[in-house]
Amino acid sequence: MSPYPHLFAPLDLGHVVLPNRVLMGSMHTNLEETKDWNRVAAFYAARARGGVALMVTGGMAPNREGGVFPGAAGLFTTADISNHRVVTDRVHAEGGRIAMQILHAGRYAYGPDCVAPSAIKSPISPFPPRELDDAGIEKQIADIATAAVRAREAGYDGVEVMGSEGYFLNEFLVTRTNRRTDRWGGSPENRMRLPVEVVRRVRAAVGPDFILIYRISLLDLVPEGQTWDEVVALAKAVETAGASILNTGIGWHEARVPTIATSVPRRAFAWVTKKLMGEVTVPVITSNRINTPEVAEAVLAEGCADMVSMARPFLADPEFVRKAAEDRAPEIAPCIACNQACLDHTFAGRISSCLVNPRACFETELVLEPAVAPKRIAVVGAGPAGLSAALALDARGHAVTLFDRAPVLGGQLNLAARVPGKEEFRGLLDWFGTMVAESGIDLRLSTEATADAVAGYDEVVVATGVRPRDPQIPGQDAPHVLSYVDVLTGAPVGERAVIVGAGGIGFDVAEFLTQAGESPTLHLDDWLAEWGVTDPGTARGGLAEPKPEAPARVVTLLQRKPEKPGRRLGRTTGWIHRAALQAKGVEMIGGVTYEGVEPGGLRVSSGPGREGTRLIPADTIVLCAGQESERSLAGTLAARGCVVHVIGGADIAAELDAKRAIDQGTRLAATL
Ligand code: NAP
Ligand code: SF4
Repeated sequence: MSPYPHLFAPLDLGHVVLPNRVLMGSMHTNLEETKDWNRVAAFYAARARGGVALMVTGGMAPNREGGVFPGAAGLFTTADISNHRVVTDRVHAEGGRIAMQILHAGRYAYGPDCVAPSAIKSPISPFPPRELDDAGIEKQIADIATAAVRAREAGYDGVEVMGSEGYFLNEFLVTRTNRRTDRWGGSPENRMRLPVEVVRRVRAAVGPDFILIYRISLLDLVPEGQTWDEVVALAKAVETAGASILNTGIGWHEARVPTIATSVPRRAFAWVTKKLMGEVTVPVITSNRINTPEVAEAVLAEGCADMVSMARPFLADPEFVRKAAEDRAPEIAPCIACNQACLDHTFAGRISSCLVNPRACFETELVLEPAVAPKRIAVVGAGPAGLSAALALDARGHAVTLFDRAPVLGGQLNLAARVPGKEEFRGLLDWFGTMVAESGIDLRLSTEATADAVAGYDEVVVATGVRPRDPQIPGQDAPHVLSYVDVLTGAPVGERAVIVGAGGIGFDVAEFLTQAGESPTLHLDDWLAEWGVTDPGTARGGLAEPKPEAPARVVTLLQRKPEKPGRRLGRTTGWIHRAALQAKGVEMIGGVTYEGVEPGGLRVSSGPGREGTRLIPADTIVLCAGQESERSLAGTLAARGCVVHVIGGADIAAELDAKRAIDQGTRLAATL
């Protein structure tokens, strides 16, 4: 019997029966904007082949003013329809199903033509929207219905009408963004008129035998959000208007509560979806931070939803569903919810991919073909770069020996996994362990790969990583100065700590040092209290006063650059790290010069003139001053005439992270 009986129970939608309870949620990958429809089709076909019951595309604009940015993909012309047919045909050929999301961005549309119920600018957009008149609203409804008809013509199995996350339809629902006094604003009935009318008109336009998902915002997480009664009334009205599934959304994009980042507990919002169960008769889908079959099965078994939506986990592993069905869950490459290669790319206008799986969205470009002439290849270093290279080389048929002087694999990922809020890295380490064990790789841990030991291989991949940079601060040899490696591996730290360097690791160490007990990421109630999330039945939008835990110690975070510390952290996650540390009272100071370590702390000055020296009291000083490449082996081997490839931190230490390391390792392996 399947270990996931609820996950693999078919779902009868009337005109169609879905084979399991897994939906691939909408992701804006920027793939459609490439207009390379073969590539778009390859992306979705791989996920269809992997067994997911139903997929939802990235948001397609119903008209120019509703696009997330000027030039955003949509279905505007006959040519667009035939392009989308390439995708739907490939998905159907794989036995899959796909619905197109219709996304009207409203005031989030990143351009001067954006429209909204009222002319109120979003705090996360520079563009004030134009308030629509009655005719303008009618046009938006008609355009959305037309987009649904075009989706049907393009071969989609359904549409998802995006009504959450603070986009156009959601904006009508709350007084925060809707100050109208006509029939589209004012009373709750008037505010919900637009979304309900959209669903009614879409259903009328597409007919009965077509999936119509409505994505409803269950928890706005912004001031003046919906009450729970309003949410339930909308759900019922949308069902009556013709929705066949309710998918759920959590949090507007401008919300100051993280909803999908790695520090958000798994299944953090399934309890909200559970509140809606029984209020409607159509299937209800839950989402957010569900990334393993065990978690998905549990939320279904507990009656939190009829289906689960996962999005990013399908970037990490297109075969998620098939592996779960075959009881091979440990082989599922885990989404660690880092956003580094997906959302951070999307918001930077780049094509999304995945830190764990660089082939995501690059299915036609990064191909691991069987090697024409298999070689004996030594990979030195079992961190993310070496591991990904070794696995990809093995997959291609090379004979790989993987060395690491440490007794465990994973390199610096082992340090990341110790940081509160980064527990997901443990799953990534486990996955690498499983995949190496199942591969043909000859793994040699606790083994120093000397030049003599590896010189006899056909080729050598040097992935020896980095060593901490020496900041050369006068007096840093004192016993109360530690490196981040010491601290993260358990060295005692006093009541007051100063951190030198405010990069990714400085922030991680600050979180590690301020956390008193177990990480709130592992305790949902603590996490909800910390971020001020409460039952939407008791507070509009589910917002309460945040109650962060008291910090474990006093921490000061320093950098030399005269800019806001943390400015260079991840585009979609940096604000979370900054907010978390502010809540813990961490003082962050930029523009300092390190004058010297003293028994009572660290003396710094400020400004280019090194004025106003002051002692920052500390009983421990932690050096997080970046890293330098460790690649002495590469030089020795090259001098002997060996074929050597240097990857990961050993190649470039600056701004090294697991994303670049894994990508580089995989890309190199594809070429050897
Ligand atoms: P980093 O991000 O390059 O930051 C190094 C820090 O050290 C900077 O704040 C820098 O600021 C300071 N620094 C550099 N040279 C110094 C010197 N000679 N003396 C004193 N301070 C110096 O490196 P990292 O923090 O070690 O992180 C390594 C990589 O891992 C980064 O790419 C980072 O993005 C990644 N990472 C990411 C995350 C994440 O959450 N996404 C978490 C951890 C690590 P000043 O030069 O201004 O002083
Ligand atoms: Fe998940 Fe990170 Fe991959 Fe995005 S980049 S899909 S968050 S593992």
